[in-house]
Amino acid sequence: MTESIKGAKKSFENDLKEANTKDTLEKLYIKYLSRKGLISVLMAKMAGLPAEVKPLAGEELNLLKAHIKKEIEAKKSSALFGPENLGEKIDITLPGIKPQEGHLHPITKTLNEINDIFISFGFEIAEGPEIEREFYNFEALNIPLEHPSRDAFDTFYIESDYLLRSHTSTVQIRIMEKRKPPIQAIMPGKVYRPDAVDASHSSMFHQVEGLMVDKGIKFSDLKGLLELFTKRMFGRNIKTRFRPSFFPFTEPSAEVDISCIICGGKGCRVCSHTGWLEILGAGMVNPRVFEAVGYSAKKLTGLAFGMGVERIAMLRYGIDDIRLFFENDIRFLEQF
Ligand SMILES: [Zn+2]
Repeated sequence: MTESIKGAKKSFENDLKEANTKDTLEKLYIKYLSRKGLISVLMAKMAGLPAEVKPLAGEELNLLKAHIKKEIEAKKSSALFGPENLGEKIDITLPGIKPQEGHLHPITKTLNEINDIFISFGFEIAEGPEIEREFYNFEALNIPLEHPSRDAFDTFYIESDYLLRSHTSTVQIRIMEKRKPPIQAIMPGKVYRPDAVDASHSSMFHQVEGLMVDKGIKFSDLKGLLELFTKRMFGRNIKTRFRPSFFPFTEPSAEVDISCIICGGKGCRVCSHTGWLEILGAGMVNPRVFEAVGYSAKKLTGLAFGMGVERIAMLRYGIDDIRLFFENDIRFLEQF
């Protein structure tokens, strides 16, 4: 009897090696474990055995039955995930599936380019909080209480003294408070204004401001610096023009235009047929700003400038609606 059991085990092991699919494993189950299967046949044979060998044979047979059941179940569960059941063979020489790759947002790209140009001029990058105190957003920048932009409509107030900064000039004050001149830094970051959102306005946008403070800094330094910047950013043939303007924190102040990058100055729809595009504001630091941070306005002069990153990105990429930047539409973002 023991020999028959051993034989059955051996034949099962061989069959198991061959059985690799759900179907063949099912057949194996029938062959060994069904009511007419090999185990049942052996059980029936056991009835005729002498009483003294019956228990041992019974134990061996039960062990074999449990073993067969376990092996078939184990192989069945692994075969379910095997390549045969997926109807394909694995070709290990095929290249893998490439994970989907993203890339930098056009605003980040433009911001990085602006930063890189000023870093190459020796500027450092300074950052500050987006939730600010009134002092940094207004008073220290010579924007008195009666100034129109202090009106609640132009600034997101949080509570009493706190607001969302409406420009990155706040960081100019913070860096001057902390350090002694010379200072040569740019301040990139997000700013917030409660403007009605349309093709050219967003309640959140990005600015890069710049500040240089030292003895003997002149308006010609400002002009030279910004001319060099616009040529690096928009191309060698770009012309620059400075128009007198007013900002509370600079004196004198100027709006800086570049010759239209679309029509080259001849006049087109983008430049409203003027040949010029306004790209930044600039000026010499107002002595009152120096007073607010405890600098000597007699010994020091400084230049400052600020630009909107969205505006520059729109001009460079020919985008006509600022909202496209923030809608997260993959079809738009994929183009950059
Ligand atoms: Zn034009």
